[in-house]
Amino acid sequence: MIVLQRCIFMRIGQQFCSRNQETTKSLVSGFPTALLGGHRAAGLRSRSTLPNVRERTLIAVKPDGVQRRLVGQIIQRFEQRGFKLVGLKMLQVSEDLLSQHYCELRTKPFYPSLLLYMTSGPVVVMVWEGYNVVQTSRTMVGHTNPAEAQAGTVRGDFSFHVSRNVVHASDSLEGAQREIQLWFQGSELLNWDCCDQTSTCEL
Ligand code: UDP
Ligand code: MG
Repeated sequence: MIVLQRCIFMRIGQQFCSRNQETTKSLVSGFPTALLGGHRAAGLRSRSTLPNVRERTLIAVKPDGVQRRLVGQIIQRFEQRGFKLVGLKMLQVSEDLLSQHYCELRTKPFYPSLLLYMTSGPVVVMVWEGYNVVQTSRTMVGHTNPAEAQAGTVRGDFSFHVSRNVVHASDSLEGAQREIQLWFQGSELLNWDCCDQTSTCEL
């Protein structure tokens, strides 16, 4: 009896996943191929017109967040929201990479201390994918200055000063594309099928 139940459950699971693989493939077109990374992206064709489903953004847990062991909680928030992790790595960031990442801030008075802060220890950098992920993740991360960040946001819950605000999130689609290409090789980003796709957005 238990064996029979298990067989039925597995069949249902297989059907659910294979149906969703087709659906997921149909969502790929319309997203810049360079940012999809995975080799399967190039040949896929779409039947869906839903925009922004394959939008991607760069999120980084800064050195204070890593030191305070907040990486898991931050990842959990993005998973819980329904976004898909497509790239993840830990690194000690170089000043060269940072100066490109923060090129617009070079003339700011806080720039030297920002470089010191960001090179003070390892960072965990990620690429998350999903509908409207750039704007939604900025809301989830909260105001640049944690003193003004809403409770419930990452910065509002885990920090109180702008010099140690725990996390980075790209601030625009263009910024996200630039930052993803800066921090990740195309081969480091995975284009994978998420079995719960139909549960997280309407197709
Ligand atoms: N920052 C700072 N002092 C300031 C403003 C910014 O130390 O007065 C740092 C802070 O770590 C911030 C980063 O510089 O996250 C980049 O600033 P930006 O204005 O791009 O804010 P974000 O996009 O990170 O919210
Ligand atoms: Mg910024």
